[in-house]
Amino acid sequence: MSELPTYASTPVADIAGVHARLVETWESGRTIPLEYRKIALRKLYHAIKDNTENIVAALKADLNKPEKESLMIEVCWLEKDILDTLAQLDKWAKDEKAPTSIIYAGLKPRMKKGPMGTVLIIGAFNYPFQLTVVPLIGAIAAGCPAIVKPSEMCPVSAALLAHIIGQALEPDAYTVVNGGIPETTEVLAQKFDKIMYTGNGQVARIVSAAAAKNLTPVILELGGLNPVFITSKADAKLAGKRIGWGKVHNAGQICISPDYVMVDPSMEEAFVQSFTDAINEFYPNGTDDKENFGRIVNDRHFKRITGLLEKSKGEVKFGGKSDAAERWIEPTLVKIGGLDDALLSEEIFGPVLPYMIVEGGVQEMSSIVRKVGDCPLGLYAFTNDAKEQEYIVNTTRSGGISFNDTMFHAAIQSIPFGGIGESGTGCYRGKASFDAFTHLRPIIDQPGWMEGQLDVRYPPYTDAKYKKYRMTQFLPAVDFDSNGKIVTGMWYYWRRLVLLGAGTKRGGVVRHLLAALIGLCFWKWGKK
Ligand code: NAD
Repeated sequence: MSELPTYASTPVADIAGVHARLVETWESGRTIPLEYRKIALRKLYHAIKDNTENIVAALKADLNKPEKESLMIEVCWLEKDILDTLAQLDKWAKDEKAPTSIIYAGLKPRMKKGPMGTVLIIGAFNYPFQLTVVPLIGAIAAGCPAIVKPSEMCPVSAALLAHIIGQALEPDAYTVVNGGIPETTEVLAQKFDKIMYTGNGQVARIVSAAAAKNLTPVILELGGLNPVFITSKADAKLAGKRIGWGKVHNAGQICISPDYVMVDPSMEEAFVQSFTDAINEFYPNGTDDKENFGRIVNDRHFKRITGLLEKSKGEVKFGGKSDAAERWIEPTLVKIGGLDDALLSEEIFGPVLPYMIVEGGVQEMSSIVRKVGDCPLGLYAFTNDAKEQEYIVNTTRSGGISFNDTMFHAAIQSIPFGGIGESGTGCYRGKASFDAFTHLRPIIDQPGWMEGQLDVRYPPYTDAKYKKYRMTQFLPAVDFDSNGKIVTGMWYYWRRLVLLGAGTKRGGVVRHLLAALIGLCFWKWGKK
């Protein structure tokens, strides 16, 4: 394409019609056969590959995203996601056997994987292609028609996405609605069967309220303040470099970028030095290098981030410069004095990083995490001590954790990705994307000959029927008492034998054989 397509909002008056066509497509059932899904995914793959240069150009125009960041995290990511999905789809879509006791085997119980229905995907600006197309891949794989609403903050990318999807997929099944608040409000007024929203928590509440009107389930992919621990057991040199990377990628405009660092006093000097060295190594020509360092998406966000920096009472240890005309902010490290600093008042979403000295070890660091933001999306801890790692896992909550790195748990495409509490609900990626838009539907077929066994459910109810019912449930002898304690004494083994105790979860085959043997001894002894 010599020229990138021009952005235009979808007329609000057209949106109900777009949705009605989507519903018609859903009702026709044509997106459901696996072959349809595969062909759609293959076409999308080629459309993305064919538009590689355009995607790079669009991201350059919207975010000055460096070419290699666009290729790695947007284009290559999508190629891999589609190819992995195509390779696994038959397996994912297969009915699952339902686990039941032998008594229900005749019903042939199974779990059918069915599409949820029509889907709405609302994306955020920072990864305009990945954040919309990865969920779309899940929707296609699951057999759901979808409307995609990209962020209006990256208009060139949004227009290109509409072009790519329009070129590759059936317009009445997969379509882009472009626009801002009025258009999104109108889309949200339609009834979908699942809504996936990526963005900030404030809008997530609007999306959830709109979805609740139709009892539509939602997946919310949100943000928060992501903490970093550097304990006395850390490799501070490595920490500086890996935290530096987490802060400069996409100019820090990532939901999982580190937001604040808590550092043990013994590690401060080495950390500050290695952060400084890392940035200088990444950008030998300075971070105003347009080829390798992104820009802030718009003036509003530029002012917000530089405003936080101005309000901070901290001491700048590295960086601090910015250029409003370029929307460039230098990677900046600030030493702050406490939790009341402006830099901890909200998610930074830019290349500024506050750090504070914490003397009380992992105990105090974990308690700070709970105070600053109980449920961040990402949590990073630099420590080589297994006990410290375990303590952190057990005393904090977060969407995910990377030990001795930042963001990397989210870089593994096959691992489910999502938040908890304020950082979101639900997850996607890999099989989780397929599952996100799939309903697991139990199905049985009750044979006529089961009637003899089913008489227990029909009135008039009798003790005999209830006794028969209990027998069919194969209730095992329990190995716990009324205080919840496990009992493994003589009486337990005796009862196990007498009831031919079908297994509890506690033991393996050997334990059961032993139980039977001991029971047999007691039985013989009991007869004397
Ligand atoms: P944004 O401004 O692009 O908004 C996101 C979407 O919300 C857009 O499509 C926009 O049109 C829509 N929107 C905005 N106002 C609306 C309204 N009043 N009603 C309905 N829809 C509306 O992006 P943002 O929200 O500024 O994104 C940044 C936030 O997103 C950060 O908090 C970040 O952590 C989070 N985020 C999370 C993930 C994740 O995967 N968890 C990924 C990226 C960003």
